Parts: sequence; C-alpha cells; structure tokens
Amino acid sequence: MRDDNFLVEQNARSIWHPMAHPADMRANPPRIIAKGEGTHVTDIEGRTVLDAVAGLWNVNLGYSCDPIKQAIARQLDVLPYYSGFRGTSTPTSIELAYEVTQFFAPEGMARAFFTSGGSDSVETALRLARQYWKVRGQADKTKFLALKKGYHGTHFGGASANGNANFRRNYEPLMPGFFHVPAPWTYRNPFNESDPAKLAQLVGAAIEDEIAFQGADTIAAFIMEPVLGAGGVIVPHETFMPLVRKICDKHDILLIADEVVTGFGRAGAWSGSRLWGVQPDMMCIAKAITSGYFPLGATLIGTKVAEAFEADKTTFGNIGTGYTYSGHPVGCAAGIAVLAETRRLNLAENARLRGEELLAGLKRLQDKHQVVGDVRGKGLMVALELVSDRATKKAADKKLMGQVADTAFAQGIMIRISGPNIILSPPLILKAEEVDTILGALDIALGSV
Ligand code: PMP
Repeated sequence: MRDDNFLVEQNARSIWHPMAHPADMRANPPRIIAKGEGTHVTDIEGRTVLDAVAGLWNVNLGYSCDPIKQAIARQLDVLPYYSGFRGTSTPTSIELAYEVTQFFAPEGMARAFFTSGGSDSVETALRLARQYWKVRGQADKTKFLALKKGYHGTHFGGASANGNANFRRNYEPLMPGFFHVPAPWTYRNPFNESDPAKLAQLVGAAIEDEIAFQGADTIAAFIMEPVLGAGGVIVPHETFMPLVRKICDKHDILLIADEVVTGFGRAGAWSGSRLWGVQPDMMCIAKAITSGYFPLGATLIGTKVAEAFEADKTTFGNIGTGYTYSGHPVGCAAGIAVLAETRRLNLAENARLRGEELLAGLKRLQDKHQVVGDVRGKGLMVALELVSDRATKKAADKKLMGQVADTAFAQGIMIRISGPNIILSPPLILKAEEVDTILGALDIALGSV
C-alpha cells in the first residue's frame, strides 16, 4: 500500500475526477476514502464519519453487507465474465432479469436490458424509444421532452435531456431534438407559483403547449425523474407524474421514468413511479441495483413496448445497441443478493420512516438558521437549499457551501454539495439515532456560517 503523501500528490497529478476542475485538486483536494463499514466510511487519515450520502445515492445496504460480498466472491469463482450479446447468456443475468421484472411488475415492467450504469440505461431507453416508433411505422417520432433541472447522466443523449447548464454548456452542440419545460419546483419557477398543486397544472399546460408547438407526431418520449435528484431534490406534487402520464397517453408519446436514484426504495416507495401511482413505458435503473458494490444498470421495458418489438416482422426490431458488460455475471450475482436483502429489510419502508424524521428535523433547523432558504425531500432523498438572503433567495456561494461541508465532516457526517444545495441521501439501512447524528452535525455546521 502506498503512503498517504503519495496518494495526495498523485491524486493531484495523475487522476481527473468527474464533475471537478482538474486545476482545483491541489487547492481543494478530495477526501480519500479508504474503508467502509455499516453506514460509516473512513478516510486515509483515519477519520470515520457517517456517510449521509451513501456514496453517490447508491450504497443503500451500507458497506458491510455480507450476502452481497459472498455472492460476488462465489460468482468470481464460478464464472467471472461472459458476454450477453446474441448467442450467449449467463445464469445470473437470466435470474436477475426475472427477479427485477417481478420486482417492478406493478410498474408494468416486462423485460430487462442490462447496462453498465445509469447513463447507459438512459441512453438505451432513448434509443429504444426512437426504435419503437420505427417498429410501429411512425419514423417521424424522434424528439424528446424533458424537465429543466432534470439530470439524466452524461452520454450525449442523456446530456441533451439534462436540464442544467453545468452539464451542457461545455459539451455543446448537444443532440438536436430535445426540448425542455420548467420543473415543478415550488421554490423557484417562472410562474411565481408556490402552491404545488397549481404549479403541477401550470407545468402540465407548458408541456401541452410544447407538444402543440413541436407536433405530437414528431415526439418519441417524455423523460423525467419521478423525484428530481441531482437538480436539488425537487419533489413534484402527487398529481404531477399522473398528469404527465395522461398527457403522454393523449398524444401517443412514451413516458420514460429515470429511476436511477428513485429505484429500490430511496424515495420511500419501491420506485418513484409506484410512489405516484404511474406505470411508465420504460424505466432506467442503476446505482442501488447492486448497492454500489458492482457497476450495473438496466433499462426496463414495459409490456406495450416489449410486445411491439417482439411482434415486429421487419429488421426495425433488431436491437443494435449494447455493452460489453451488459448482464455482467458478477454484477448480476450482486444484484440478486441485493434484491433479496432489500426486500428482507423492507428498505423502502425504512426510507419512508427515517425520511419523515429527517425532514421534520431539518424543518426545525430551517426555523433556527436564516441561511436555510428551503428544505425538501421524499424518503431518504433530501436537500437543504442555502441562501445568503431569504427575502431575495440569493443563492449561497461556493465558499460558504464548502465551509458547511467541512464543518459537517468535522462533526462526523459526510454530506454532498451541489450548487447551493446540501444533498442528503444516506444508506437506507439508516437507524433513528443516526438521523439524530445527522441533524446534530448539521445544526453545528449551519450555525458556523
Ligand atoms: N439518471 C439519474 C437520475 C441520475 O441521478 C444519474 C446519476 N446520478 C444518472 C442518470 C447517471 O448514472 P451514472 O452516473 O451511473 O451513469
């Protein structure tokens, strides 16, 4: 093992990190995480903290889940890799496809197309949506609608669907044919509407307006996160996603639910679609499918889309997309173990209960600390938006956000900063007393600025 100085030095010299400026690594070196146990992680300096972000929203079962580790070890022994391209398959990929489509049967999911992660799952869904309309003989339906503030990964299709300039500007021109409507975000929206139900209607009207402008016969799909994650945990009113479903049905547009974060219980239900009582046409999943222990994702395909492809007598139904690691047998073995543990521990219910406690505690912190402009969340997907002035809602600056994160870490919790937002997305095995730990550390961190 290299010594700590080597690691810090080479981190600045040898590695480029996602979502960071390479020149910033000396001034603001990352924390180097060396160990994890339960809900806690330890850095190379030996500081152990509660991981209030579960890695990157994904380590739902915490860092020492033996059934996952054993499943991975066993599969490595039996068969470390084989391809899932036409001609071969593997037992674990078949079993996980069965399990995961059963798991999301209430959402109407019927088939699984495995990927290597969330961006791949989005890319695949976008491709299959265009292909679906070719299969159906409506090749003009190629455009996509998405929400501003939405996050759909970093491939060109997903980046084109993204609704945040930070993920777009440096990579433009993006793909043509993607159009955006305002997010149902009560704290900031162009309608100045703070009532969530009314805002849902207004955004619905904006979607109708955009469809009329583009022409429904040119639109392949609407893609959305049931609860927007990376954009700052925007929780739509309960009527919003059902309204989007209704609009999509009316105009014969597919609905793609990007459940990369919300899948497997994070928002307090087994999926965001189930939370809102909606059956999408496709679902993108990744992250918690292996609790972060192995890179894996899937695009789930609903019955209507699946049956159209399978009934196709032309070459349009031939799937010309996929990844070397589609259905990786080790990832799928991990996924099978994760699903069993996720069900056994009823993680969605724990996320719902702990999420309610966390949100209630954060509302108390909002009353106490002027710097907290807004608090929002669903299940264990939570954000605090910090402002330098409550009246004007002027967003807190980077320096202040960094100070809050550093103090929180010193107080024993890892949080994530995204613009003016503190994002909290702890492991779903979180205990009630750990909610108190998070609240206590945040109280001090917010009081320090
Ligand atoms: N969609 C959503 C909703 C996400 O939150 C993310 C990642 N945070 C992605 C897609 C992309 O997933 P990945 O980083 O695994 O490619």
